[in-house]
Amino acid sequence: MTSPVKTTCPYCGVGCGVITTTDADGKTHVAGDPDHPANYGKLCSKGSALGDTLGTKDRLLTPRLYGQDVSWAQALDHVAAQLTATIREYGPDSVAFYVSGQLLTEDYYVANKLMKGFIGSANIDTNSRLCMSSSVAGHKRAFGEDIVPGHYDDWDKTDLAVLVGSNAAWCHPILFQRLIRNQNERGMKMVIIDPRRTPSCDSADLHLPIRPGTDVSLFNGLLVYLADNGFEDSHYCREYTRGHPDALQAAREDAPDLLTVAQRCDISPDRLEAFYQLFSQTENSLTIYSQGVNQSSQGTDKVNAIINCHLFTGRIGRPGQGPFSVTGQPNAMGGREVGGLANTLAAHMDFDDDSIQIVKEFWQTETVATQPGLKAIDLFNHMAEGKIKALWVMGTNPAASVPNANLVHDALQKCPLVIVSDCIDNTDTLQHAHIALPAQGWGEKDGTVTNSERRISRQRRFLAPAGQAKADFWILAEVAKRMGWQDAFDYESPADVFREYSALTAYKNDNHRGLNLSGLADLAADEYNHLSPIQWPVPAAANNPATAPATHANDQRFFAQGGYFTPDGRARFVPVRYIPPQQETSPTFPIVLNSGRLRDQWHTMTRTGKSARLNDHIKEPLLTLHPEDAKKHNLVSGSFIKVKSRQGDAILRCDISDNQRRGEAFMPMHWNNQYAAQACVAQLAQNNTDPLSGQPEMKYTPINMALWKPDWSGLLITRTALTLPNLSYWTKRLSTDCFVYQIAAKNVEITPQQFIDHVFDDFPAQNIQSVQDRKKSTAAIAAFHQNRLERLFFTHSGTVQYQSAWLEKLFAKEQISTEDRRSLLAGKSAQPQEDVGPLICSCFGVGANQIKTVCQDNPHIELDGIGEILKAGTNCGSCRSEIRNIVEKFAPAANERA
Ligand code: SF4
Repeated sequence: MTSPVKTTCPYCGVGCGVITTTDADGKTHVAGDPDHPANYGKLCSKGSALGDTLGTKDRLLTPRLYGQDVSWAQALDHVAAQLTATIREYGPDSVAFYVSGQLLTEDYYVANKLMKGFIGSANIDTNSRLCMSSSVAGHKRAFGEDIVPGHYDDWDKTDLAVLVGSNAAWCHPILFQRLIRNQNERGMKMVIIDPRRTPSCDSADLHLPIRPGTDVSLFNGLLVYLADNGFEDSHYCREYTRGHPDALQAAREDAPDLLTVAQRCDISPDRLEAFYQLFSQTENSLTIYSQGVNQSSQGTDKVNAIINCHLFTGRIGRPGQGPFSVTGQPNAMGGREVGGLANTLAAHMDFDDDSIQIVKEFWQTETVATQPGLKAIDLFNHMAEGKIKALWVMGTNPAASVPNANLVHDALQKCPLVIVSDCIDNTDTLQHAHIALPAQGWGEKDGTVTNSERRISRQRRFLAPAGQAKADFWILAEVAKRMGWQDAFDYESPADVFREYSALTAYKNDNHRGLNLSGLADLAADEYNHLSPIQWPVPAAANNPATAPATHANDQRFFAQGGYFTPDGRARFVPVRYIPPQQETSPTFPIVLNSGRLRDQWHTMTRTGKSARLNDHIKEPLLTLHPEDAKKHNLVSGSFIKVKSRQGDAILRCDISDNQRRGEAFMPMHWNNQYAAQACVAQLAQNNTDPLSGQPEMKYTPINMALWKPDWSGLLITRTALTLPNLSYWTKRLSTDCFVYQIAAKNVEITPQQFIDHVFDDFPAQNIQSVQDRKKSTAAIAAFHQNRLERLFFTHSGTVQYQSAWLEKLFAKEQISTEDRRSLLAGKSAQPQEDVGPLICSCFGVGANQIKTVCQDNPHIELDGIGEILKAGTNCGSCRSEIRNIVEKFAPAANERA
């Protein structure tokens, strides 16, 4: 076993500390870091399964030029020459970088420096634009700088957590568990504002299922209520803020009374008043918000509507109080800090004359960009119009994740030069790449990330780079040197980059910028290697952070005593009024589509899709609908639905739940062309943006839908992944020893026999065993290699239940027994099989049916009792709301308790 390495989880913005060890067989074991102040040893289901996602399978291992493997020198020479030629012919603004919150801060810094400092354009934007740029814009309007005022300790100390557009139970599970502990130990109250009844709502004291997009009116109504009931902190407003009369006036016009707000938000006035009372009377209140607020054409106003209420009550920067934006990605904050967004220059400086001069001096260059570049949506729109001649995509998958993805595919197709650096070889974006550059993946990278509470943590290397993979900062620096900027990009290590970046945050700062890492600017290599998690600001006078213990007890909050980063040092109230979503529903597109994450998947599944246990939670992409909408469209659970928006279409299965509001639907964001035929939400989503932040509206897309009836459907299980013929519906899931495909098609596309011929044409007849019932239109076929099961296919015209879990396990066997062979083609074992049902607890592999059985055997059982018997829910806690639902339904005494 190797020595433990302390590093950071590469998934969400919680930024949990992880300890890895690798055994003699090369298997990596992952555990939570008990000393890390974000998680104190806990990991959620995704973090716990990190070890499953490593390895070289599906990795991009060598540089490729127009499909041919080449050496690094050839690839880098070509990239540098092509970028130089493009800039010479079309100018700096013809080139763009599209980067990622997956990059480390050091990578981000070098990418930004190359584009904004030396190429001389600001056309570098990041996938964080889709995630939290409205929070950035809202912070800058109110605080003068993009600063999250509080830290995670506030989640433990608050008396009221208001979650707005945040399903934290699934999306930020470790932080959500801190709220649950606070609720249990201190009696904290929780309010959730979300159109959907999400798993987070199971722990809430109050849920406000508002009409999508009406958050501004809800918080304007709160501001009016606070004013009318004497909750203004007049000292705070007078001493530290500016503009509250105008903001209050706008709020009164927009949300004059409770009934008007209740009507607009489509919630009961009683619930609304209960929220307003609770908020006003709870001094220690924390408003936590994420993508449900940000991903909106009025996202920035929503952020400022929330901040206005906190400024008005002076509830900011004190323990347990404040507005708290939670980022989606592991290093979205690091990207914001270095300047990875097209509308910031560098290190929290903008494109004003002073900042441009500071950056020029520091980078010793005359070619610093002088105005903002293209934000993500504009960037791809310009590319589709032929205005971008060269794009470099780093560590992200815009063809699957940027809304109106069909336009993105077109734009990539048209772009004369597409460079993609990535660690994964099979993404929708990489298929458009002229040049593919293998980047290091998690475990191989070395650098820093910043989490949602401004805490910088090290991501440390514990694996040798796969194939020829290189660090992103190295790739960028090598290209920059070949473009003629040797001295400016002469880095030997990530520590060199980090020191330079830290020094830039300090350069001519004079307390004008909150982002100040001067205390880290002189770290020796060893100090950088041993850097403990630390929150910024880190002024030079601070204790040596390299030797300081990781601690959450420091007081790194902002703004309790003013000190805003505006010209007069005062916060700004921002007058805001509700504006309807830009693309409204219509008789043709009457349903509102919402989108978001599932508990056990991450982004476009390039990593979590490699974990069989994570794939077991929700096995196919589903469209969730209210029962009345399902009835209106003759849909039952599991029906296929054809969905259309103004941008694109999809086919997926129906899931029916009254957690959904009528007239609204929900679709997960994860599936894409690598995992399904047509289930990419980005192909449906509209790309209207917030006018200030440029963040697209991904929570509100008008759609229509209809029952889709295939002529046949089937189940394909195969040891190796296959390229399927064109079909209307297929989904792919990696299981432990095989791939599982769900198939459905019309005969005009392909008949079952044609499909069988396609899928089994690499097996000789003697290796195939089959049964067919033409009358019932069923067929079952198995292919073997020396009595080892290789491929299995069942087709049918109706609904047939197979024991898929048992069939999948047969692929683990080197030899198939005679008994199993006999049962195989019936799709069911002759021996009784335990059907554990849908996976609920990923950490301990516990299914819904196991929990039901325990409930039925123990009528008085409660949530924690399930943990004692099955361990379910006792590790990361992400599944506790799902367990609670089962207990409430199946433990007979639960009804009595209710
Ligand atoms: Fe990773 Fe889960 Fe922690 Fe997020 S909450 S950083 S996904 S372990």
